[in-house]
Amino acid sequence: MEMKYVPTTCPYCGTGCTFNLVVVDGKVTGVAPYQRSPVNEGKLCPKGVYAHEFVNREDRLTTPLIKKDGTFVEASWDEAYDLIARKLKSYKADEMAVLASARTSNEDNYAIMKFARGVLKTRHIDHCARLCHASTVAGLAATFGSGAMTNSIGDIAQSKCVFIIGSNTFEQHPLIGRRVMQAKKNGAKIIYADPRLTPTGKQADLYMQFRSGSDVAILNGLMQEIIRNGWEDKEFIANRTKDFEALKAVVMKPDYSLENVSKISGIPIDQLKTAAEWIAKSGATAILYSMGITQHTVGVDNVKSIANIQMLTGNLGKAGAGVNALRGQNNVQGACDMGCLPVVFTGYQKVIDEAAHKKFSDAWGFPDGISAPQNGYEVTTMMDVLTEKPGELKAMYIMGENPMLSDPDLTHVEHAIKSLEFLVVQDIFLTETAQLADVVLPATCYAEKDGTQTSTERRVQMWRKAQDPPGQAKLDWQILAELSAKMGYAGQFPWQSAEDVFTEIAKVTPSYGGMNYERLRKPEALHWPCPAADHAGTPILHIGKFSHPDGLGVFFPIEFKYPAEVPDAEYPYIFTTGRNLFHWHTGSMTRRSASLESEVPTGWIEINTEDAHDLGVADGEMVLAKTRRGEIKVPARVTKEIMKGVMFMPFHFAECAANVLTNNALDPIAKIPEFKACAIKIEKI
Ligand code: SF4
Repeated sequence: MEMKYVPTTCPYCGTGCTFNLVVVDGKVTGVAPYQRSPVNEGKLCPKGVYAHEFVNREDRLTTPLIKKDGTFVEASWDEAYDLIARKLKSYKADEMAVLASARTSNEDNYAIMKFARGVLKTRHIDHCARLCHASTVAGLAATFGSGAMTNSIGDIAQSKCVFIIGSNTFEQHPLIGRRVMQAKKNGAKIIYADPRLTPTGKQADLYMQFRSGSDVAILNGLMQEIIRNGWEDKEFIANRTKDFEALKAVVMKPDYSLENVSKISGIPIDQLKTAAEWIAKSGATAILYSMGITQHTVGVDNVKSIANIQMLTGNLGKAGAGVNALRGQNNVQGACDMGCLPVVFTGYQKVIDEAAHKKFSDAWGFPDGISAPQNGYEVTTMMDVLTEKPGELKAMYIMGENPMLSDPDLTHVEHAIKSLEFLVVQDIFLTETAQLADVVLPATCYAEKDGTQTSTERRVQMWRKAQDPPGQAKLDWQILAELSAKMGYAGQFPWQSAEDVFTEIAKVTPSYGGMNYERLRKPEALHWPCPAADHAGTPILHIGKFSHPDGLGVFFPIEFKYPAEVPDAEYPYIFTTGRNLFHWHTGSMTRRSASLESEVPTGWIEINTEDAHDLGVADGEMVLAKTRRGEIKVPARVTKEIMKGVMFMPFHFAECAANVLTNNALDPIAKIPEFKACAIKIEKI
């Protein structure tokens, strides 16, 4: 028996924990701690502990599949490539759309971005960041000039006050939750604001339960209280920011008095007062947030409000502070960094910028040019165009995403995807989306490839190959390079290894310019920006100046707006969605892990005890949950831990898919859907 340990990075959440894959006779058989990781110091949450269990499942995709007469038939790679190349060449550039993946490596995402813009020449490329942190990218770029988490994970332990809003950190980013507990042990106050008393809330010194969708009112009220008491950081405001007076004119309105905010949000006045004092006077307050903030029609407003309160209190550009946007998927930061968005190339170089467009055009050397210097469609817009403008989009290429479970209003999504003339899905399992494809290509998972991913703290980390792929499955970037060669562009994809791809990324991406595999192989890896070979990376952003050309942070006055859909006589409750400790997103990997699936085998809807009493619903009873988009049968979980009037479902489970119910109303800037608030009713079955 031959046994080895291969250190790699967890494929689930954006924390970026490192662990060893245990490999016996060439097959991954387990996970073991990797003590040298500065992120997780050898500790893991259950998803990490069982991250080997899906790798060698018997239902992995092992050969290309072509649909004939409604049934998938096994095909050779040449057959699949020839069919795809012939079909894609038959469409005009902007009749095609591409979805990249926050689950695959930076190298894979760079390859698909180059394939979309250089081979297909389409403007329409996006990925699931649109559904989670598009509001963060837009909101923080506007306020600070850079749309990413400002501080690092280890730095949270140095905070004197941690304010968590719209993030169930202890379940969704457990090893970041560990840093929060370290801060608490060091004397920090922990404030938690959420409609549900989650495991995160149970560790807080102050828990503020609020109605989903009232975030801007709460943050404006806290800022009014801080200014009324003279607790704002006057020196920071004067030296490091602009437009404070405009902010003040809005937040000091009577609308945002604590009395009014209490009525809107449901948070008692004394709790708001305490929170304002702790945030302003601790000396180093870190705000942690996730999709409770971003997934709203006012997602960008919410993010700007968080930036406002941190600038108001001088909690930026120093240890223990910052705006810590906790990204969801393992590589959602990296997929954004790699330009898998409809408005940018790598490193957020704008496609409409003439110089950037010329730079990529020259660097790639496609003889017939690249996509036009115009913004493309977001994934949410793609779905609307497919249903509302028949014939405008005709083909789609999806790598590692599963919109048939992850996107809002699934009836609408199914209609959109079924209206495509041609769909290619590249994945490791036959997901709900892959089942609708014309061609399915078998790809490799994290355990079968070298590569890099970029965690929520902007740390670029290594994946290392631990076993061979199953059957004929291939690396994602390799599939894209081979298909490009079939389409006449072999010279533009000369890579022999993931390292070759990364070398090209570093050449065209200033924030990655000083990185290479030799530097990244060290456990501490590197935080971007890292512009030069002798640059140590940047664990804390905005020290001394912000990323705008004038170096100043910009206050944005924000008025409170209600969600697109609010409860009424017909649909009297607020509906919100989220995740669970044991499962990950659409469950394509965690639901194939026997240990994780046995912990939580299906979904549920959380109903407050008093609401359940009014409805005559008992704990465990099957109910019909209905919104204006659809209805599902789901077991009730009756609990005091959710606010009266609010109901919650995790979205991992196809058999009771929460996204049948959610609203696809969009934030006007980020085009992110409002997963976190719509109106629902419950009927007994
Ligand atoms: Fe993996 Fe996230 Fe758990 Fe760490 S906290 S083991 S990265 S799922």
